[in-house]
Amino acid sequence: AAKGEGRNRFHYFTPSMQRYAKHRMRLIQDLRHAIIHQEFELYYQPIICLQHDTCLKAEALIRWRHPKRGLVSPIEFIAVAEETGLIIEIGNWVFQQAARQSALWRDRFGVEVQISINKSPVQFRDEGDSFESWAALLKSLKLTNNNICVEITEGLLLDNSQTISSTLATYRESGIQVSLDDFGTGYSSLAYLKKFEIDYLKIDQSFTRNLDSNGNDFTLCEAIIVMAHKLGMQVIAEGVETEYQRQLLADAGCDFGQGYLFSKPVPAEEFEQAFIIKAKENSEA
Ligand code: C2E
Ligand code: MG
Ligand code: MG
Ligand code: MG
Repeated sequence: AAKGEGRNRFHYFTPSMQRYAKHRMRLIQDLRHAIIHQEFELYYQPIICLQHDTCLKAEALIRWRHPKRGLVSPIEFIAVAEETGLIIEIGNWVFQQAARQSALWRDRFGVEVQISINKSPVQFRDEGDSFESWAALLKSLKLTNNNICVEITEGLLLDNSQTISSTLATYRESGIQVSLDDFGTGYSSLAYLKKFEIDYLKIDQSFTRNLDSNGNDFTLCEAIIVMAHKLGMQVIAEGVETEYQRQLLADAGCDFGQGYLFSKPVPAEEFEQAFIIKAKENSEA
């Protein structure tokens, strides 16, 4: 519609832009509704210790049970939640839910499962507020011994490194660990790794996907693992789908693996059954 109506006239919306704008407005409305009506759920994916084949960690991944659309993936709504600031409320809910779940598993089964949550850079802009209430909840649930891990991405480290660095130090004091997610895909320089207090590097699944003992991706994984260990960090490989990948990573000294080989993300009850109750039975047998 914008074409052929004169050079100096501005038409901001083509039909496809209009459809997109409508879709987006609907999504924002629905997200607001979802926050109020608690339509979110956390799924849990095990993070397996490659040396002992045990599971004491899980990543919490959000799902949205939309009343009409069914289960919606975070890929579809996290970006919009970030742009609108709704991620702050969603992120606080994720944290509270994960903390309560870890306390519940501890109380019910006597097992401490460290739960990792993904924290968007937008949430760090609002820090002051949220951190004190997070720390208070951890204290009241007696979860101050690394029961929670926060996954950040490399982009955050470029943002405002002084503030971020002191925030991450505060985490450590409160017994929260920190993972660098999707490592190798962002823009951060290696110099950042020594500047920040980071406990785990998560090798992005794009490196794990094509692992082959003679390939470049394997060389990169090996180098990342050696470097991380020398800097006092442990390594989690994401996207482990095959036994071959698991074996290569374990041989290269990788500490943990996460991926469909072990399990896809599952609801809490399923995780409990497969990775907590079973593990207890095995250790008692
Ligand atoms: P991520 O943090 O890197 O999470 C890993 C993603 O890889 C998850 O996708 C997981 O289901 C998927 N995955 C795990 N194992 C495999 C595998 O073996 N093969 C393949 N192909 N994929 C695997 P998911 O659950 O769709 O989440 C996508 C992204 O959405 C996450 O990437 C994270 O960036 C974001 N996200 C999820 N939950 C939250 C949340 O609570 N808050 C924020 N801010 N972001 C979240
Ligand atoms: Mg993650
Ligand atoms: Mg990741
Ligand atoms: Mg990812």
